[in-house]
Amino acid sequence: MSAHRSGRARNPRTDVYDVAVVGAGIVGAALARELSGHELTVALVEARADVGDGTSKANTAILHTGFDAEPGTLESRLVARGYHLLSAYAEATGIPVERTGALLVAWDREELGVLPRLKEKAEANGYQHCRLVDADEVYRAVPALGEGALGGLTVPDESVICTWTTNLALATDARRRGTELLLRHAVTGVRRDDGHTTLLTTAGDVRARWVVNAAGLGADHIDRLFGHDRFTVTPRRGELFVFDKLARPLVDTIVLPVPTSRGKGVLIAPTVYGNVMLGPTAEDLTDRTDTATSESGHDFLLGKGERLMPRLLAEEITASYAGLRAAIDHGDYLVEATPEQRYLLVGGIRSTGLSAGLAIAEHARGVLAGAGLPLRARDRLPDPPRMPNLGEAAERPYQNAGLIARDPAYGTIVCFCERVTEGEIRDACHAPVPARDLDGLRRRTRAMNGRCQGFFCGAAVEALRARHHADDGRDRADGRDED
Ligand SMILES: Cc1cc2nc3c(=O)[nH]c(=O)nc-3n(C[C@H](O)[C@H](O)[C@H](O)COP(=O)(O)OP(=O)(O)OC[C@H]3O[C@@H](n4cnc5c(N)ncnc54)[C@H](O)[C@@H]3O)c2cc1C
Repeated sequence: MSAHRSGRARNPRTDVYDVAVVGAGIVGAALARELSGHELTVALVEARADVGDGTSKANTAILHTGFDAEPGTLESRLVARGYHLLSAYAEATGIPVERTGALLVAWDREELGVLPRLKEKAEANGYQHCRLVDADEVYRAVPALGEGALGGLTVPDESVICTWTTNLALATDARRRGTELLLRHAVTGVRRDDGHTTLLTTAGDVRARWVVNAAGLGADHIDRLFGHDRFTVTPRRGELFVFDKLARPLVDTIVLPVPTSRGKGVLIAPTVYGNVMLGPTAEDLTDRTDTATSESGHDFLLGKGERLMPRLLAEEITASYAGLRAAIDHGDYLVEATPEQRYLLVGGIRSTGLSAGLAIAEHARGVLAGAGLPLRARDRLPDPPRMPNLGEAAERPYQNAGLIARDPAYGTIVCFCERVTEGEIRDACHAPVPARDLDGLRRRTRAMNGRCQGFFCGAAVEALRARHHADDGRDRADGRDED
């Protein structure tokens, strides 16, 4: 029984959890949520001080249909399934999603020749809604597109989503179902003890009967701690530009390139926050922490933008960022159990984990059951959390007169670029999975994400954070998160 159900606070130093999930990105949070829907005690063990602070915070934020996945792979099945699961979950929890659709554009004869094959591929993946269109239709759909487009393929169900809220909703949901969140617990070693595994972490030992490795860029390291040598992660950096909101009328739909073997290529997409994005690059690195942007990436994106949509480059770039894909030397997701170790690897979730996360968790549950984890669904589950809305398509607190009348903190704007109120910052500091630093506040509220990038509001946001943090007293010396 979990702490929530038994009312007894668990002690992560002495208790043995049924399952420890390593990594609190979208995949690990989805796994913890899924497993804690069963009669199990679950720990979500994360190296960093917050959930969703790895690859899951810095991606292109597209909810993929899976139309272009390799048919027959686990990835193609789970992205297609994840699309539907996450669409429904977003509806239930208030994760911002906009069904913008996508237009895949061919810029030369060779690419034009590939489009019919892509349509067939989509159909082989179970996606029947793609349509081949000529150049006139391409320009009617995206008038600002650069010259030279020869034709396109529509993918009407591709959508943009908020990756931050997705990760937070899953982690919050997992906690409500009883998952214990152990932040600042970097796993550095593994010991097999009598009937359980001891994870040696930077904040002390964590014991569990089963371990699920969802450590993203660190998954191969954890896998080696279990004695395996089956894959190596290569961090593949993707850099992106974020354009000011004034650019949004130029881009109503996702503009995709024809994909290559190295990835999905450079796209232009609206964001749920009302901006426009250009990117990502794809560059293999050796440093798994190098999320800095680079001069070469900057120049590369400018060159691409010049070709794809010169008018976009006349708009201001408000930010650039980079994320690291966990690319592996294997063409598919790696979800493999080692029953004798009571261990499950969930690795190689490279460029589609946001879309597929919920389906990966569902699939992993089945693999764990097959490997011998006893699973009994709980009779009653708490409702999914209702998340604060960060999207432009729905009402935000500063626009809600009734809410402001009841609680004037929602009428006091702190971040003017993104129109974030004092009430939202307060709420984020006291949420079930609270913001602990300014970056955490950015992801929960959009504060400091606008034109000024915190130049004007940063000090006020930090003062509020410090005040609420002190009030809350949540920052425990051992890094353990509690209700
Ligand atoms: C540029 C870019 C664009 C992308 N665009 C899209 C997109 O449009 N749509 C889409 O669906 N997907 C996209 N993706 C892919 C998607 O972001 C990832 O597949 C997904 O975020 C992976 O989630 P994860 O939970 O596996 O990894 P992560 O989010 O990285 O989580 C892994 C966690 O494990 C923790 N960890 C690692 N080692 C240890 C350890 N030893 N002990 C404890 N904790 C540890 C890390 O701190 C981290 O928090 C993109 C990725 C990138 C980089």
